[in-house]
Amino acid sequence: MRYNKIRKMDISNGEGIRVSIFMQGCAFHCEGCFNPETWDFDGGKELTDETIDRILELCGSDTIAGLSILGGEPMHAKNIEGTTKLAKAFKEKYPNKTLWVWSGFLFDRDLKDKEVLKYIDVLVDGQFDISKYSPILKWKGSSNQRVIDVQKSLKEKEIVLYEK
Ligand code: SF4
Repeated sequence: MRYNKIRKMDISNGEGIRVSIFMQGCAFHCEGCFNPETWDFDGGKELTDETIDRILELCGSDTIAGLSILGGEPMHAKNIEGTTKLAKAFKEKYPNKTLWVWSGFLFDRDLKDKEVLKYIDVLVDGQFDISKYSPILKWKGSSNQRVIDVQKSLKEKEIVLYEK
C-alpha cells in the first residue's frame, strides 16, 4: 500500500501531540474533501517495513501521545492490510499510547469484523458530508461522522462515543 505524508508532530488530529500518517488512495471522493491529493491509489510513496519502523521510532518520544492514521482511506480493500500491519506493530510496541483512525467506512456496517479494530482506541467514521459541515466540530468535519470509543464499543457490542 501507499501513503501520502507523515507528520512528526500533529496537534490537530486526536488528543495531545501525535505522529500522523495520511494513507494514499480513496474511492469515496466526497464533495469538499480536505485531502483530494490522497485519492489516487498510485500516488504517494510505498509504505515499507522501513517506513513502519520509522513511524514507530517517531512515536517513541515521551512527548508523543500516540499515532493517528488518516487518509485517503485507511480501510479501503487496497489499504486495510497495510493499516492493520502498522496498527498492530504500534499497539504491540506502545500499549499505553493511543491509536486514532479516520475512515469513511462505518464501524457497524463495514468494519466490525475487521482485525484492525482490536488495535484502535478511537475511530472517527463516516464520509465527509459537506451539507453537514461545521468548523466547530471536534475531531470531525461533518455532524454525521462519529467519534467512537472502539474498545468500549466492541465490549458492549454497540456504538459507544468517545468522551475525553
Ligand atoms: S473519505 Fe475522507 S479522504 Fe476520502 S474523499 Fe471522503 S473526506 Fe476525502
